[in-house]
Amino acid sequence: MYYPNCPFCKGTFTEIAKIITESDDGIKTYHHRWFQCKKCKKKYYSLATEYVFDDSLDYYMYEVEENIWTEHVKLIKKCKQKNNPLCNCDSHKLAKNVGYENFICTDYTLRSEE
Ligand SMILES: [Zn+2]
Ligand SMILES: [Zn+2]
Repeated sequence: MYYPNCPFCKGTFTEIAKIITESDDGIKTYHHRWFQCKKCKKKYYSLATEYVFDDSLDYYMYEVEENIWTEHVKLIKKCKQKNNPLCNCDSHKLAKNVGYENFICTDYTLRSEE
């Protein structure tokens, strides 16, 4: 299921950073987002994997420890071309390798029907 609001306090989200990467074979585009709850200030990250051949999406959401989140957001913001999946800067390298443990939810319902 997809959470339009904070799963802990129902507060609304503010997006702080986002960046796009793609798989080496170019068939998947990854939309990385770092956001926080306006109310309880919990930090989140979501990854939407877009399948280029049919525009479908897989969605994963994680809660992220504040120190790590702040550090990563700072680095991501340094990239000057966040919408260019072929950019090979340190921000893009971080996005490609990032992985968080506090899994909140996934959503496959965003996939387009066959
Ligand atoms: Zn909250
Ligand atoms: Zn970059």
